Amino acid sequence: MGGAAPDGLPSWVTLLRAPNPGPMTLDGTNTWVLRVPGAARGVVIDPGPLDEGHLRRIADHGPYECILITHGHHDHVEGAPRLSEILGGTPVLAAGSRTLPTSLDIDGLTVTTLHTPGHTSDSVCFLVDGGRSQAMFTGDTILGRGTTVVAHPDGDLRAYLGSLERLSAYEKVLMLPGHGPARADVAALARDYLDHRRQRLAQVEAAVATGARTAEEVVDIVYPDIDPGVRFAAIWSAAAQLDYLNHKNGESGTPAGRLDPL
Ligand SMILES: [Zn+2]
Repeated sequence: MGGAAPDGLPSWVTLLRAPNPGPMTLDGTNTWVLRVPGAARGVVIDPGPLDEGHLRRIADHGPYECILITHGHHDHVEGAPRLSEILGGTPVLAAGSRTLPTSLDIDGLTVTTLHTPGHTSDSVCFLVDGGRSQAMFTGDTILGRGTTVVAHPDGDLRAYLGSLERLSAYEKVLMLPGHGPARADVAALARDYLDHRRQRLAQVEAAVATGARTAEEVVDIVYPDIDPGVRFAAIWSAAAQLDYLNHKNGESGTPAGRLDPL
């Protein structure tokens, strides 16, 4: 494929990483600036936190047709109103506020919105076609490194598995996530995430079989060495898994309501 820049990204993609590294944000939030070389207008995905220096740097790459949001977590969206203000009123389009169209054409870029709930109920991915190359912007649905959290109760594991199945159809499409490095094949990563989730579900089922009833008890068994700084996220995920198993068992006729998520 033509049009690749020295950093391996397509010529129409620039990464501006926000200065907010941490256990949940990896190296910081990835703000993606998209513009076909020479085009008048671009688009920005996920302005990130309310950090004036970061937002000014994004604005320096403008003007933008719109500001796109992958989901409503603060490390992705907090800076959006201020960025819009700096830019003189550029619209912010987000699934959560029902302002996001299915498809957008912006100066040589075609943006298609895929609804991929699970990490949160409002999570979307953006498939962007820049003419000679494509990329999938996955937000926190799939990260560039490690695994993501299903933020129960807003996040939902059944929806999440469905979203991963959907993404597994995009063979060899470049993946540009909300945190961590770019990856070559979104479909391969979606399948890895599905395998990981199924293994975790089996572990949670085994923990329940030994008597675990709450998300806390499941975390103690399944994640015995977890970093205390991200334990809350493991509890969200365990609650999502218990909720999933509870419904699954309920539908298959075994007594429902035995499991007590959180
Ligand atoms: Zn998130």
